[in-house]
Amino acid sequence: MTMTTKKKNHKYIFIVGGVMSGVGKGIATSSIGKILQSKGFKVNPIKVDPYLNVDAGTMNPTEHGEVFVLDSGLETDQDMGNYERFLEMDLNPDDYMTSGMVYKHVIDKERNLGYRGKFVEAIPHVTDEITRRIKHAAEKNQSDISIIEIGGTIGDYQNILFIEAARILKIKNPQDVMFIMVSYLPVPGTIGEMKTRPTQNAVRQLNSYGVQPDAIIARGEFPLDQKRKEKLAIWCSVPVENVISAPDILSIYDVPLNFERDKISSVIMKSLHMRTKARNGELLEWKKFVKKRNKAKHKLEVAVVGKYFDTGDFMLSDAYLSVIEAIKFSSYWKDANTRLTWINSKEYEANPKKVTELKKFDGIIVPGGFGETGVEGVILAIEYVRKNKIPYLGLCYGMQLAVIEFCRNVLGWKEAHTSEINAHSPHVVIDIMPEQKKNLESANYGATMRLGAYPAVLKEGTIAREAYLSAGASAKADGTVEISERHRHRYEVNPEHISEIEKGGLVFSGASPDGRLMEIAELPRSIHPFFLGTQFHPEFKARPLHPHPLFTEFVSACLKKK
Ligand code: GLN
Repeated sequence: MTMTTKKKNHKYIFIVGGVMSGVGKGIATSSIGKILQSKGFKVNPIKVDPYLNVDAGTMNPTEHGEVFVLDSGLETDQDMGNYERFLEMDLNPDDYMTSGMVYKHVIDKERNLGYRGKFVEAIPHVTDEITRRIKHAAEKNQSDISIIEIGGTIGDYQNILFIEAARILKIKNPQDVMFIMVSYLPVPGTIGEMKTRPTQNAVRQLNSYGVQPDAIIARGEFPLDQKRKEKLAIWCSVPVENVISAPDILSIYDVPLNFERDKISSVIMKSLHMRTKARNGELLEWKKFVKKRNKAKHKLEVAVVGKYFDTGDFMLSDAYLSVIEAIKFSSYWKDANTRLTWINSKEYEANPKKVTELKKFDGIIVPGGFGETGVEGVILAIEYVRKNKIPYLGLCYGMQLAVIEFCRNVLGWKEAHTSEINAHSPHVVIDIMPEQKKNLESANYGATMRLGAYPAVLKEGTIAREAYLSAGASAKADGTVEISERHRHRYEVNPEHISEIEKGGLVFSGASPDGRLMEIAELPRSIHPFFLGTQFHPEFKARPLHPHPLFTEFVSACLKKK
């Protein structure tokens, strides 16, 4: 093997969930990573999703939340976005696995006689494959500690093989593996007391798999008092100092600071038989960032107009998690707090006059999307904000629909459309990419979009170029500024119409280096204070300490309007 060698005594932390889902395992994983980074360790987070989908790309966002795209193009779970944001690192495909991926590998290997005629079984073949992947990710990242979040809750059938693989790893390397259970302590309204029993039961269930948690992160509405810490410690067989109180707080970015109040890093060091590397691992930069948020002077109101918001009676903005976070970072940076209002564009189709409500907002975002639902409502909204000079940021579909609106209402191409919806329009201004056509014809949907990071060259004298330059992008010797951003789409601006659209006044300020694909569209500042759309998803690259230049430019424009 020519692979880089694994560091001696590599350490593994498995994060499992007790009682119920949705209590913040992903944030706990990210926060532990952040703390360990500050102590001088190189960490690599790994997300394990127990479902059979091979990746997250084919899942409906109202069901699954956001599909987070990596540089490589792999479509993953939104927790990967949290890891990237907290840890300021670009993750790669080795840092993610689903049951589907693991089984597919095992079955393909069996079909190729890779097991040389043996019985192929869940244990050991699937569990071995899981461990192989975890170790491979550690090697690839050359990290000191892997933090592996096992999706789902203890008691699910789906994640049992992952827990079994982790158990075996611990048996073989008792000093190098630890388990942290993120659990929930409810406070039933009628009783008003924090209940520890569900967590005790979850620990027993985990025990029945042969695993004892080393620490418990006790999530709940309120902080855990000493009495309950002691109770949990006794019933769950963990030292009392290994019970970490994790109450609800205003912002997820406070969580690392909160965990450290209960000294989670010393708990981890003890459990993994390690000593911290950095003397002043104080999360200084992080604290500054958190302070910025708490002290922000200005308040902004921004509307997000789109369609993936409602599931039953609930509004679910999770589908746009990275957009929400990207706006936060740029706002804090500009000394502002931004409140987002979610508007279902179908409302404007039913009642076009309602669109005038947008005048009360400081800016509008149209995020990514697919298909026909709500599209005419979005186009009405874009027309309104273009004419009324309200700052506009369009992300992927949001750029495509802005181009369509411009063609319809400025160039007078009344039927301008995307071939995603109307391929017979006389003006198909957004068209399927030639290489995508075959995929759709053969119903080959999985992982076949234009996915992941691609370069784009920025045009001189544009808002986009200025924004990237002022955020630290550098020009090459010949003056070109090239950026790299993540994509997830099948359609693009139709090359046949580019020159007419540009003559009409819309500027394509970013394009693929070969000039074929239009990546950013904007109106000059002389015409509109900020009207810009991107074919890529800038939100995937926004980080707390490094906000995304285009979001920051948008926030500045909103502040000016205000
Ligand atoms: N539906 C459009 C396309 O496939 C936009 C996709 C998106 O917004 N991510 O090109």
